[in-house]
Amino acid sequence: MTSTIDRAAFIFGGHATFTIVSKRSGTRFTYRVAQPAPRDGKPAPFFASVLTGPDNTADYTYMGILRPNGAGSAAGAPELVPTRASKISPNAASFRALEWFVQHLASDAVEFHHCGRCARCGRQLTDPESIESGFGPHCRARAA
Ligand SMILES: [Zn+2]
Repeated sequence: MTSTIDRAAFIFGGHATFTIVSKRSGTRFTYRVAQPAPRDGKPAPFFASVLTGPDNTADYTYMGILRPNGAGSAAGAPELVPTRASKISPNAASFRALEWFVQHLASDAVEFHHCGRCARCGRQLTDPESIESGFGPHCRARAA
């Protein structure tokens, strides 16, 4: 998934989990971008969270709102906006990485992995090796 359009479409799909990896440093983060159901006919914002614990289905920490068309430096690019409820500082590496990524969706300096589920047990897959194989670490060992 390398095109800018595909990446944006995935991120704003409504229930997206994805992992980005810096090709230079190897640093990686897993994010969830979720849009709750509309209320009173008005679309809800997209809420961005980052994986901060071992449970990749539950251990997400709220970062802020991801606007599809931000008013930030790159005109028309998505923008990550902290809110009062944000638990992650805008200065944190995870915040800055997502902020940078959504403004440089076409960049090939970053690997983008959209996360799926293990073919054996159905658990969420977030690390690049698991996503590639389609099995989580335990099931990959058993399936081999
Ligand atoms: Zn599994």
